[in-house]
Amino acid sequence: MKENIMGVDVTTLNEQQLMKRIEDDIRQNQKVRIVAVNPEKIIMAEQDPSLRQLLNESTYQIPDGIGVSIASKLSGGIVRGRVTGIGMMGNLLKLANTNEWKIFMYGATPETVQKAAQHIKERFPKLIIAGTLDGYVKDTQQIVTTINEAKPHILFVALGSPKQELFIKNHMDQLHVNVFQGVGGSFDVYSGNVKRAPEMFQKTGTEWLYRLLKQPSRIKRQMALPMFLVKVARNRNR
Ligand code: UDP
Repeated sequence: MKENIMGVDVTTLNEQQLMKRIEDDIRQNQKVRIVAVNPEKIIMAEQDPSLRQLLNESTYQIPDGIGVSIASKLSGGIVRGRVTGIGMMGNLLKLANTNEWKIFMYGATPETVQKAAQHIKERFPKLIIAGTLDGYVKDTQQIVTTINEAKPHILFVALGSPKQELFIKNHMDQLHVNVFQGVGGSFDVYSGNVKRAPEMFQKTGTEWLYRLLKQPSRIKRQMALPMFLVKVARNRNR
């Protein structure tokens, strides 16, 4: 159920299958961690074995961005869909809402996490926000205790990458949580401070184009994608 793209595993489950699996994981009181994989991370992992390990030892690696599915296709794989990190967070919020499950939000500034929690509660009134903590608290033991006292089913960690993945890796044994997801800047989006691209761009997988139009200086970062795809294609021909 996984495919290896240039050394990094990616789930071949589609969005629906993945959500069913996670729902079962929670019902069976399992501990699972979700990490978003994009071309940038795959390229970094090539140079950095500890990052590659961090990605590969997660339970579910989701194909975040169209680049991963194109890479899969180029190398004869079957990953087709795309599940962005924030899309996955939305799916988990929906799941929590349906089941009246508890979530905990850890990360971002105090104002951002509060505002994001408030907006989430408005949109998903049946889920329970068991607690929030901003991402600038220093006392890790206190963080672990606070989360454990809240007893959430799902923990969202928004500290940026790879800080959030490292926090999850280092503390998941101590944390009584079923689902761990590192969500990067998603609290900023839910708080309303940062806007996502209009739906047309989201639906067509061209959020990158929207961002490029708004901020042309991103071209440097975005050139990484075609270069990555060339690498994937070369790899295949070896
Ligand atoms: N952040 C945090 N604590 C830190 C560093 C960052 O809580 O010590 C938060 C920051 O406020 C922001 C998020 O982590 O909300 C980082 O988002 P970014 O978009 O940089 O993450 P990416 O998805 O690009 O890794």
